[in-house]
Amino acid sequence: VGRLAIQTAAAVSMLLLLFLTHACVAGPIVKPRNDITRMTLPAGLCVGLTWVREPKLVEWEGHATLDGPGMPKHRLQGRASIQAAPDTAFLIAGRRAPSGARISPDAGWFRITAVAADGKTRSGRYRGSLQLHLRGTESKAVNEVDLEDYLAGVVGREMSLLRTPTEALKAQVVSARTYALYECINGRLRRIGEPFDLFDDERSQAYGGMDSENSTALEVVEETRGLVLFYRGSLVQTFYSSTCGGSTEPAWQVLASAQRIPPLAGVACGHCATSPHYEWRATLDKTELCERLTGRQGRVDALEVAASCKGGHALRMKFQVAGESLPRVVDANSGFRVKVGGRTIKSTLLVEIKETASGFEITGRGWGHGAGMCQYGAWELARSGRSAYDILEFYYPQSEIERAH
Ligand SMILES: [Zn+2]
Repeated sequence: VGRLAIQTAAAVSMLLLLFLTHACVAGPIVKPRNDITRMTLPAGLCVGLTWVREPKLVEWEGHATLDGPGMPKHRLQGRASIQAAPDTAFLIAGRRAPSGARISPDAGWFRITAVAADGKTRSGRYRGSLQLHLRGTESKAVNEVDLEDYLAGVVGREMSLLRTPTEALKAQVVSARTYALYECINGRLRRIGEPFDLFDDERSQAYGGMDSENSTALEVVEETRGLVLFYRGSLVQTFYSSTCGGSTEPAWQVLASAQRIPPLAGVACGHCATSPHYEWRATLDKTELCERLTGRQGRVDALEVAASCKGGHALRMKFQVAGESLPRVVDANSGFRVKVGGRTIKSTLLVEIKETASGFEITGRGWGHGAGMCQYGAWELARSGRSAYDILEFYYPQSEIERAH
């Protein structure tokens, strides 16, 4: 009886949600296959605001609580200046506060002003609370935020809210939610000493806080609330990238520490040819290439793909430095693409490498690592009338979409 009641309540709330949101969001709603998954969800995610180098000021409306490890609680009003104290602490509104100090505004949001990496002063608005940590002499600003609020600040950074069809946005939110939970529960960044679960950039997922939200973002998050992808009872590590260029790849081949499961095995996409990144060209100079790849002066005389995945993305690159007896073989991503530059070599799907007098002309396809969902493919599928459910099932085959409580 209890379970039936829960299922009935869930069905009623789904109907209500359908009714409430149908007027503002076009397209069919995402329907979970099951609505019974019980998992302990973290109360809040901790997101590292990596653009913050030197926090200066926090502002909010009304009152806020300042607390931290071993310090009494204080009530503050309106704003607080932040300075580094002489020894491993901060001065927040003139009070000594240890690493891990937290400002929690009653209104549920704040604005932080800080000096960024480029030396310029910027500010950004975020929901939730702000933690300030010290790692050595480095200040780390961390936004502790509700999972669904976090997603509202992700979707608009990962896809265009204005131009993307709603079903593609919903698929994006479900992927982003699953990825965030996976990272949070597995604690990958905590294990390497970071005081947070996710970076606010492409190292995890791009997150812009409240400044990236609009009504569409809030609607698609609300409409997919709690929906995540499972495979055999475990969260799927839902990678995604901009444009796969034809086929997605087995995630465990192109990304370190990726799960080896059917949903991440790669699919023939064939839906991203309209992407502006579908085909690209790069010209590399032989001496500059040598410096980038080896860190030394010299000349690269030959460059080729040494091994590829089934979808065509290179796994290893082989190159010959003039004067060396043997060619060098490196990982196509970390040893080649990253070293040359991810904006020059947009992907490791290299369809042609042509030698010229002074260098190499590379023709490639796609943008990003090519594992998991292809975002441009998702866009095209949604445009042709497919639902978010279809899109997720296509890019993460054999996964189950479920509502986590
Ligand atoms: Zn694709």
